[in-house]
This record gives sequence, C-alpha cells and structure tokens, in this order.
Amino acid sequence: ATAAPLLAVRNIEVVYDNVILVLRGLSMDVPKGAIVALLGANGAGKSTTLKAISGLLKTEDGEVTRGEIVFDGERIDGIDPDKIVRRGIFQVMEGRRIIADMTALENLRLGAYTRSDKNVDDDIDMVYKYFPRLKERTGLAGYLSGGEQQMLAIGRAMMARPKMILMDEPSMGLSPLLVKEVFGIIKQINRDLGVTILLVEQNARAALSVASHGYIMEQGKVVLDGTAAELRDNEDVKEFYLGGA
Ligand code: ATP
Repeated sequence: ATAAPLLAVRNIEVVYDNVILVLRGLSMDVPKGAIVALLGANGAGKSTTLKAISGLLKTEDGEVTRGEIVFDGERIDGIDPDKIVRRGIFQVMEGRRIIADMTALENLRLGAYTRSDKNVDDDIDMVYKYFPRLKERTGLAGYLSGGEQQMLAIGRAMMARPKMILMDEPSMGLSPLLVKEVFGIIKQINRDLGVTILLVEQNARAALSVASHGYIMEQGKVVLDGTAAELRDNEDVKEFYLGGA
C-alpha cells in the first residue's frame, strides 16, 4: 500500500483576473520526504502552480476555480499565504526576493517569523553549516553575489522549519559550477532534514539529477510524468528538455 502523498494537487484550474485561464486540470502528487521536479517551457504555468500551492496567487489576482489542493490531509486551496506558511509550506520565490537592505543574518531571522519558539540561534548555526559563506558576509544582502543570494533564500526557508519547500528556479542566473553546488546542498538538506521539496526548473538536467520524480507541463497541464530515470531516458524529454543530449 502506498502512503497518501504529503501534497496532492487534484485537477486544478487557475484563472488570473477572472478571465485568463492558465492551469487547465493539473494534477500531481508529492510524496513525503521526496524531491519532485516540475519542468516545462517558459509560460507553461510552473510558477503559477507553486503560487497556487503557497496561496501567493491571491496577491496577483489569481484564483483556483476548480479542483483541490490537499496538504498533510487538509484542503489548502483558497487559504491565505501566511496561514499556509504556518501549516508548513515555505516558498523560495523566483529571483530570490531577499531583503537587500538587511544583512544576511537579519534575512535569516525573518525566515523564522512564524515560529512561536524564539530560540532560533541553533537553526542559524545549522544554516551556516550548509552555507558557511553566509556567516562571513556581514554586509547588506543586496551586495551578495547571485549564488550567495540564492543560498540565503534557501537558508531563510530552512529557518521556518517547514515540512515542504517550494523552489522556483534555484538555478536561475547561476554559473554551471554554482548550479552543481546549490543542487548538491538541496539534496543534502532533503536527506538530513527530511524536508519535502517541490522544485520548478527550466534546467531539467540539474533538476532530474536530484529529484526522484518529475512532471512535465505544457500549456497548463501535465503531459508526462515518471521517475527521474524514466524521464532522463525518454526521447521527447531528451530532445526538448535536455538539449538533445
Ligand atoms: P516562467 O518560467 O516564464 O515563469 P512558467 O511556466 O512559470 O514560466 P507562469 O509564470 O506560471 O509560467 O505563467 C503561465 C502563464 O500565466 C503565462 O502565460 C503568463 O503570462 C500568465 N501569467 C502569469 N502570471 C500572471 C498574472 N499575475 N496575471 C495574468 N497572467 C499571468
């Protein structure tokens, strides 16, 4: 018997501004403790899917108009984003969205804002263990390199002690070497902390190197899914998403 997934997206439809239909019956499962990759071309609706899960859709006049999203056994579609954070889902936004005029440490502390225990110092040390460079950076976060800002955004998510982290394009703007480093750390965090990760990526190769399963989206729905190995071996995936390699 397979356990119920931690996150189940069931046949959702998402509309922006009451008229723009972007997700057209999208379904996916994310098992507890897994890393799952959500892949697809520009405009397929990957970011919209993450925003539907985190509730941030509301802040952009978007709405889940059909279907349901179930997290940890409870419906979460239509709930406010801050309540979804409290239920254990934390989204690392595309473009990182760290606070430029605060220090890295202050940004990390902000990640813990929903926690009732104020004893966050141990977790700051834990984040520094994964990202030692952040400890050395005492200036404003806006002056960090792209890679360091990405690390800070992931560290801030860890500070919330979430059950699940949603990551929107962690490879964006990073050199191939840094992509490797950041994805290695994502894998490590998943293994060590047991946190479930849903990863949106244009870089299918990097995503499938750490994920156990993947979903491929086109025009607002899933067109293919399978284990990472199955997807890497699929001819269409090779041609369209892995650069013909
Ligand atoms: P990308 O990698 O470019 O972010 P994506 O797969 O994440 O692509 P989305 O950002 O989810 O795709 O966008 C899917 C579609 O929804 C696009 O056609 C986009 O123009 C539209 N869209 C996204 N956000 C909004 C919004 N706030 N209002 C109206 N339409 C939107």
